Formats: sequence, C-alpha cells, structure tokens
Amino acid sequence: MAMSSPPTETDVLIIGAGPGGYAAAIRAGQLGLDVTLADADAFGGVCLNYGCIPSKALLSAADIVHDAGHRESMGIYADPYIDWDELLEWQAGVVARLTDGVKQLCTNAGVELVDGRVRFVDEHRAAITTTDGADHELSFDRAVVATGSRAVELETFPFDEEAVLTSRDVFSMADIPRRLLIVGAGYIGLELATLFSKLGTAVRVVEFEDDVLPGWDDNLRERIREHLESLGVEFAFGHRATDCTVESSEVVVSTETDDGTETEHTADRIVVAVGRQPVTDTVGLETLNLETTEREFLDIDEQCRTSLDHVFAIGDVAGEPMLAHKASTEGHVAAEVLAGRDASTADQQIPAVIFTDPEVATIGLSESDAAAAGYSPLIGEMPFSASGRALTTNSPEGFVRVVVDEEASTILGAQIVGADASELVGELIVAIRAGLSPHDVSATVHPHPTFSEAVMEACADTLDEAVHTN
Ligand code: NAD
Repeated sequence: MAMSSPPTETDVLIIGAGPGGYAAAIRAGQLGLDVTLADADAFGGVCLNYGCIPSKALLSAADIVHDAGHRESMGIYADPYIDWDELLEWQAGVVARLTDGVKQLCTNAGVELVDGRVRFVDEHRAAITTTDGADHELSFDRAVVATGSRAVELETFPFDEEAVLTSRDVFSMADIPRRLLIVGAGYIGLELATLFSKLGTAVRVVEFEDDVLPGWDDNLRERIREHLESLGVEFAFGHRATDCTVESSEVVVSTETDDGTETEHTADRIVVAVGRQPVTDTVGLETLNLETTEREFLDIDEQCRTSLDHVFAIGDVAGEPMLAHKASTEGHVAAEVLAGRDASTADQQIPAVIFTDPEVATIGLSESDAAAAGYSPLIGEMPFSASGRALTTNSPEGFVRVVVDEEASTILGAQIVGADASELVGELIVAIRAGLSPHDVSATVHPHPTFSEAVMEACADTLDEAVHTN
C-alpha cells in the first residue's frame, strides 16, 4: 500500500489498518470524507495477517487431514501426508488475496494509505515515520485510534519466535512440532490445541483455572473439553505457568498449583496464549490525555468517541470483547458519526465463536444470564444426534439451544455447539435483533436436510411443538 509521501493534512486520520481501522476508512471514504489510513506493520492487522485468517486456513486444512485419516467407520482408509511448507504457502496466498483486496477497496473509496508509524504531537498534529525511515508531519481535524491489541507475554519467559512463541509466531513455524505445550485454555489456546492435535502433534495445555474457557457455560465447556481429550489433548488444570527454559532442543515449562506443587512440562515448542492487552503505548496517546478504563482500554461512548470530542477509538484498544467483528461494527459506527449521521453501538449484541471441533457459537443471554436479568427463561434444544444432515456428514456432536423470554415470547439468546455453529448462529442473531418470536423461526420453512433445521426445531421445542425430539 506504499505511497510516495503521506499527505500533509487530512480530515480524518485513522491509525491502525485492522478490521476496525480499514472498515472505518472504507466507509468514511464512501461517505465522501477525506481519509488517511496509516499502519506501522501489516495492512489488515492481526486478524488478517497473524490471527483469524491464517488460523482458520490451517484449521480447515487440519480438518481435511484428520477427517481423511479417521473415517474407517464410513469405509474410508487414508493416511494423508502434509507438506508444511506448501501448506504455509497456500495459507500465505489466502492472506495476500484478502489484504490486497482490502487495499484495493480502500483505494476505490479514495482513502490515502500510509505505511508508517504515527505519533500524536498535539490534538491536531501527528508525526509519521514511514517505513523508508523518513519523517513527516500531518495535521488532521479528527482522528480514529484503531491500534488493536497484542499478546500478553509472561515476564520470565524467553520469547524467541522459534521455540517460545506467542500466537502471532505460530503461523510461520519451521515445521509441525512433535510435542507442543500451550499455556492458557482460552479462545486461542483451544483453537491451537484443535489445530495441532489434528495435525498429529502431542498437545498438552496448562491452565490455572479448573476448566477450559473460564466464564463460559459449564455445558459448553464440558463438550469442548471432552472432544479435545478425544483428539488426544492433555489438560493440566489448576496449573499456573511460572517459568520457562530452553535446553538444547527442548523447552521446559514449570507450573505451580495452589497447594504449592511444582511440575515441569517438556515440549519441543510452547505457545503462550494468556490473553491480550490493548496497544496504547506506541502512538503518543499521553499527549492527548484520553480517559482510560480500569483495564487500560480507551474509554468510549456509544458513538465510539473518546473523552476528546474529535478523537474516536474502535476495536480491541477500546474494550472487550476483543473480536474482529466488534471492531468492524465500531468502525462503521465511527465512520457514520464522523460523516454527521446518526449511528450508535447501543443496540448491537456481539456474537462469539470459537473454532474448536465442534465449533461453539453464542449470542445474547444464556439461561442463567437471563434468569439473573429477571426474565423467565424458557429453553428449547435440538441435539444434532437427531439431525439428518448431521448424521449424513458424520458430525452428530452438539446441539442448538435457544433461550426465550416466556412472557414476551422473544428470543433472548442462543448457544450452539456443533459443525457449522459459526454459520448457524447468524439466523439467530438476525432473529434476536429483529425481535422475532420462536414461532416466527419455527414456522419458517427451512431446507431439508440441513443443519439449519436444528435452529427451527430448537425454536419449536420452546413451544412444545418439536417433532424430531419428543
Ligand atoms: P483468553 O483470555 O481467552 O484465555 C487466556 C487463558 O489463559 C485463561 O483461561 C487464563 O486463565 C489462562 N492463563 C493466564 N495466565 C496463565 C498462566 N500463567 N498459566 C496458565 N494459564 C494462564 O485469552 P486468549 O486465548 O489469549 O485470547 C485473547 C483474545 O483473543 C480473546 O479475548 C478473544 O476475544 C480473542 N480471540 C478470539 C477468537 C475467536 O473469536 N474465535 C480466537 C482467538 C482469539
């Protein structure tokens, strides 16, 4: 996206070209604003370059490898061979295609693209050091901070991008490790455990809480843990990783439990996935003196404005959940507001998806959240073991569960575990936003045989009208 020299003035300066920043830039450009989008690293941000996209590309490859080798019950016998270098080359091609496409969309919308590090000099001026080392100054009317987040690094761990890794380094590993230790059983830890166990790696996960996915529904956690265990993943719960040493070709991680028991875990490589933190220290924010939250996110209102009226913040730097689709949504809202339109994040619910096997997807309230919020929740459920489509694709694990407000007869939330949960949740997201009743969904004709029939049946179940589960 290089340009010869950045402009000297712009209406809207957007710092950070991840899913938040580029969505804001394209939309603001479409709305006729004069926009400059700058990024010091890779265009497309963590999501496109080191996160969502490379991980999902490799997960889809791992699914093929694993499925082909584990379908004896269907009469299929195969022993796939993986060429890791070729696989990474294919994955890099997917990333390049998407990042090039986004750059083109920015250019089409009239957005000025700048390869460089930006630092605020004062409330309307920024210094830019472009990747060729040259210094520039840019004045701006309004700014959007979209600097994202970075992996939390454990202080005593010798991160070296080879044996001791953050999730950012995983997708350029030299080879598939024989033994991999993952610290943290959150989103990233579990997706990586799924990926590498399916590629044949012996995976161990150490987690200081007593189960996977702290804070998630017990029922969902249990399904995910059990399935990962069936893939051969070993868990060490209640273990806090405290230290790490690299000894010749081995990494040794020490953990400690609450009762003081110390254990050493040995692997070829380790990945630390213990959370992410907002990037607020590289852009001269101290000059602007913006208000922050307790956890050091930039504090924003429903229009994504910070404590300075002309400075907006979106995405991971502006708070949880740190998800790409939340960042893009805020990018859209910020762009609309910058263009003088009425927009707000207030009525948006943010879905969550974890790409384990089976996938997990949630939206809105769980049964316990709904009860705590004062609703009278009614639950409808359809297990995939009763779905024709799930059986014909040999993926009978999981269920669709919907949570309905008995009084208003509206859908409050849904939890889905199973194949294509990430896609199925879309129907329920729309139903919730549109205020549809379970009857609206159950009385709508769904094609047969499909996974989506399980959404219809779960809604029917809340009305005692399900025909495939009774
Ligand atoms: P996380 O907060 O989801 O999980 C981190 C885990 O590490 C926690 O379970 C915590 O108890 C554990 N932990 C912390 N310190 C530890 C220690 N010293 N020893 C052992 N365990 C320890 O964080 P993550 O998995 O790194 O993910 C970061 C963010 O990335 C998430 O907030 C998520 O929003 C986002 N993400 C989303 C997706 C997706 O949407 N599919 C995928 C990946 C990441």
